Amino acid sequence: MIVNIGKAAENDMVIGNSSVSRTHARLCSEGSSGWILEDLNSTNGTFVNDVQILKKNIIASDRIRFGNSDTYSLKELLHANNDYSEEFGKLKEIYKTYTEAKVKIQSSNQLKTRLFQSLPFALPGVIGVTIGFLGKGSPEMFGISLFITILAPTIGIYLGAKQASKVPLQLQILADNFKINYVCPKCGAFLGEIPWESLVNKKQCPACKAKWAKE
Ligand SMILES: [Zn+2]
Repeated sequence: MIVNIGKAAENDMVIGNSSVSRTHARLCSEGSSGWILEDLNSTNGTFVNDVQILKKNIIASDRIRFGNSDTYSLKELLHANNDYSEEFGKLKEIYKTYTEAKVKIQSSNQLKTRLFQSLPFALPGVIGVTIGFLGKGSPEMFGISLFITILAPTIGIYLGAKQASKVPLQLQILADNFKINYVCPKCGAFLGEIPWESLVNKKQCPACKAKWAKE
């Protein structure tokens, strides 16, 4: 990423100050080594923390000035022209992770709920046949068999309902985290359950007008 700074309109960061040259300075990202600010042979110089520089690594706390301009932080320069496209790009992964986790919770739960609810119905049949075979029709064995036949589905339905009720909680936690993370990088407004691809097509935040995509 490169941010061109100067008085001319074609710069990324346009500073309308008479002491600023048309093409004054350039901010470049050098891979993982951070940001480098370079003076482009300006008339009145580029200053970092009031010290004139030609080329320097910039950190978040640095105060940057061009000629006699106002001072700017790294963040302000990176968001020149209200450009938040880099931060907005990271939301793509957040949306994808959220939707995948949601589907996973729902489908794994459906399976468990069905299992709890259907197994007990098969069980009494097996037990009934076994007891019937062993007990040769004795009244006690018939009683036990009848008891299990009634009890097992009841437990199954109870466990199934319990499992089903776990889902809203898991989904709630997921949705709460999503609401914190899936927000406009500038104003922090929650973007709703709208796919990232649809949002990036809007190009900018309807609330704060931050640019979500480069033109
Ligand atoms: Zn916004």
